[in-house]
Amino acid sequence: MDRQKLYNFERKIISLVYPNRCPFCGKIISADEYMCFSCPEFLPYVKKPLEPIENVSRFYACCFYAYRAKKAVLGMKYGGLIYPVEAFARMIYEKIKEELKKADALVPVPSGFLSVKKRGFATAEKIAERISRLSGVPVLKALKAQDDKQEQKMLGMKMRLENARKAFYINDKADISGKKLILIDDVCTTGSTLSVCAELLTNAGAKEVVAAVFAKTYSISRNRIESKKFYKKRVYLK
Ligand SMILES: [Zn+2]
Repeated sequence: MDRQKLYNFERKIISLVYPNRCPFCGKIISADEYMCFSCPEFLPYVKKPLEPIENVSRFYACCFYAYRAKKAVLGMKYGGLIYPVEAFARMIYEKIKEELKKADALVPVPSGFLSVKKRGFATAEKIAERISRLSGVPVLKALKAQDDKQEQKMLGMKMRLENARKAFYINDKADISGKKLILIDDVCTTGSTLSVCAELLTNAGAKEVVAAVFAKTYSISRNRIESKKFYKKRVYLK
């Protein structure tokens, strides 16, 4: 039995006890699905190129951090739900298929010790592991988080950057020199975390760093328009 089949089998067994649910609306779905039939229509997809992030060659996000996409992220982050991971991984995988062909490794943005303890799992790491199963590109834990990392979401832009600089360091045991890496995270807010992580990896010898996340928050100026457009469409659909 290959790894994908084994994984699907595991999921079927688990779903007998914990039914698999659509992470975006909560509907029960079969074990081999990762979202229901109706949700794809309602997700706030990122369709245009995003503003570039310093030190990152190319940046990809599947959805904007709003509506059902936000609900699914919150379910994973604060509700301790594991099934959104599958949807996020598959969506990122579809989005960056071409990048994965050229990549040497996936580098998850590490979670602090406290948030792992709270949630029971490291979110970006779990997503990266799933993308790795789908693509065959290995996961490389090249970054580590300081234990006392402050929660980024409470901070302003300047503080975020300073905080992110202090929050991460290179894992000495990981061999990254000359490698093309893809940074993986669940949500990107200002891009400061991804920028700092990419800088650390480049300084440690990585050839190129690309970043991919499930959701990007709307930046105040440019993406507010997208938000309004989406909102109008959503009201119309109702
Ligand atoms: Zn759904």
